[in-house]
Amino acid sequence: MHSCKEGVPRAEEQLHYGEDYRFIPATSAASGLGVSVLPDLYCHTIQIVNICLVGRPDDRAFVLVDAGMPGSADDIVSVVEDRFGSGSRPQAIVLTHGHFDHVGAIVELVKHWNVPVYAHPAELPYLTGKASYPEPDASVEGGFIAKISPFFPNEPIQLGDRVHPLPEDGTVPHLPEFRWIHTPGHTPGHISLFRPRDAALIAGDAFVTVRQDSLYKVLTQQIEISGPPRYYTIDWRAARESVRKLAALFPSVAITGHGAPVAGKELREGLTKLARNFDRIATPDYGKYVH
Ligand SMILES: [Zn+2]
Ligand SMILES: [Zn+2]
Repeated sequence: MHSCKEGVPRAEEQLHYGEDYRFIPATSAASGLGVSVLPDLYCHTIQIVNICLVGRPDDRAFVLVDAGMPGSADDIVSVVEDRFGSGSRPQAIVLTHGHFDHVGAIVELVKHWNVPVYAHPAELPYLTGKASYPEPDASVEGGFIAKISPFFPNEPIQLGDRVHPLPEDGTVPHLPEFRWIHTPGHTPGHISLFRPRDAALIAGDAFVTVRQDSLYKVLTQQIEISGPPRYYTIDWRAARESVRKLAALFPSVAITGHGAPVAGKELREGLTKLARNFDRIATPDYGKYVH
């Protein structure tokens, strides 16, 4: 007997956040602002984290990269409809990784849009309720944000059969010009997205353009090409190799998970400096994941 899968309503109740999911009252000067980095690359800041829309507004075919902070689903839907028209929805959501500030609205968005989610296979345990991220390291060298990081959610969300592994061949569903690049260190299945045609890079948290462990710099969004956020990064050696891998691509423009987009000379020089001096600039002097 053949069953018609399309006819079976999805068990929506299977999708949920982790037990410790909560709104985090953090903000920055860029919160609520968006910038068209390229005609088909839009970066919008939700409190302290960026989401990215890939696609031209007149195409109406686009992809959302990352899913914002807890409680931001309505904001994200508005951002999408402002850019692509009312009732528009992405063809897919691609995740750079599964930290709470990159999946904060994903359950509502997946239900609202009924779209698939893609992530690296090594990130799937954190997206399907199987594994928690290690506790954020409040003891790590560096400032106030690290100190409050134990309040950040780290328990896994459950996306069930809505989340799929990215294809092994490096292609990205619905983004034919992009390739995904494994950039582990910050998390095991962290990825970045790169477009060879114009060297556009969506870096996630492999590197960021604001010192995420400095409250002052997060608030003011002062540009400083920096390593991944310290309190969450669990493998500094892998994080260093990932930055070197991205620097070797000579990106022309980069949208990172935190901080303003950067381009040209500022990106080239900042990223080269970070890659060459990673241990001095990025790796904390002390912390529980530093060896
Ligand atoms: Zn992260
Ligand atoms: Zn992040």
